[in-house]
Amino acid sequence: MRSSTDEKQVEPSDRLDCAQTQTLAPLRVVKLPSDTLLAPSHPIARLPVEWEQRVVAWGEPAYRGKQIFDWIHRQGVLNPDEMSNIPKRLRELLKEDGVGWPIEIVSVHESADGTKKLLMGMPDGEKVETVLIPQLGDERLVTQCISSQVGCAMGCVFCASGVAGLKRQMSDAEIVAQVLLCRRELSTGQRIRNVVFMGMGEPLHNYDAVARALVLLTHPEGIDLSKRRVTVSTSGLVKQIDQLGKDFDGQVQLAISLHAVRDEERSRIMPVNRKHGLKELTEALRRYPMSKRQRITIEYTLIEGLNDSLADANGMVELLRGIPVKVNLIPMNPISASDLRAPDSSHVTRFQEQLTRRGLSVFVRKTRGDDVAAACGQLAFHGESRRTAGRE
Ligand code: SAH
Ligand code: SF4
Repeated sequence: MRSSTDEKQVEPSDRLDCAQTQTLAPLRVVKLPSDTLLAPSHPIARLPVEWEQRVVAWGEPAYRGKQIFDWIHRQGVLNPDEMSNIPKRLRELLKEDGVGWPIEIVSVHESADGTKKLLMGMPDGEKVETVLIPQLGDERLVTQCISSQVGCAMGCVFCASGVAGLKRQMSDAEIVAQVLLCRRELSTGQRIRNVVFMGMGEPLHNYDAVARALVLLTHPEGIDLSKRRVTVSTSGLVKQIDQLGKDFDGQVQLAISLHAVRDEERSRIMPVNRKHGLKELTEALRRYPMSKRQRITIEYTLIEGLNDSLADANGMVELLRGIPVKVNLIPMNPISASDLRAPDSSHVTRFQEQLTRRGLSVFVRKTRGDDVAAACGQLAFHGESRRTAGRE
């Protein structure tokens, strides 16, 4: 989202030869309230209107564009040869255009509780993880936790991705393909009902790709997730929280990684707080446009001796006063790079009770899939891990 002009011209794909290129009409990219959605990075990140323009430029009727979008996003078919109602000439053009998977499943580890962790590989050799979590009590409904970056630049000390540092951004197509691909891993009767950006990476540090992914994930002619069932979790990038609110009218579920209620402590464990302190963050939450029934999710990783005192619980109540929230307490999952750990469970319960007594609605997030290191904050590189100097 960069230009403030009404429409942006997009160069035709350089995969096409010159003769075809001359016949292509320029694509117009889609408008969002705050700005213009960046052009798709890959054919599978195109929206129906963009496909229509593309096929018309190829001399085919516009309705073919919708058919192709349907194959990719509704049916999860990316091999043009399997698109049975698409004529052969157009299938060949799709192949030349690069329609195909931008990411593949490298391995699947299933946990005793039914949670599946999938390692996904990209053509440049980078890997990310995504997790499928069947709902307790109704396994047909699955929550998918997806990644938005390879690594993360934000450097939170309790998080494996943060310790590893940012390797690169993920593209819009790579982000969405995690969902398209994982639908194939579901058992009969299961469906992905919720998608949470709680895998590797800080989604709002990759705003343009994530914004297009959000439009695609919730597109009624495609995957068609309800916006309320897509959660963007952030460590607190204030400008982008405002932008997200504006672009999606507050309908995308927002989760904030709070983890400490005083600036001094939060800055110590989350470097982002040195740039956007708690006052600035809570002001952004108060501005986030939401319907009366919506709540912002507050994630709070409980770390023994660091943020788990009753004074912290009381501080949280004061800090969040007047903001519609629900609080998720996450006993810290251990990571190899740190000695920090969760308090014992009776302490977690006391912390929860204090918040509840003071009027907050609080859940303790049950750790799922921890026997395959699939729990929150345990997603990190396989093999080499590195730290980058660049922070936000
Ligand atoms: N970068 C985003 C989303 C990915 S992290 C964010 O920080 O919000 C998803 C959630 O897992 C965040 O709330 C994060 O703080 C939490 N988390 C990270 N490491 C953790 C750990 N070791 N134990 C428990 N939760 C952790
Ligand atoms: Fe990045 Fe989130 Fe981990 Fe912090 S908690 S390092 S923002 S992935």
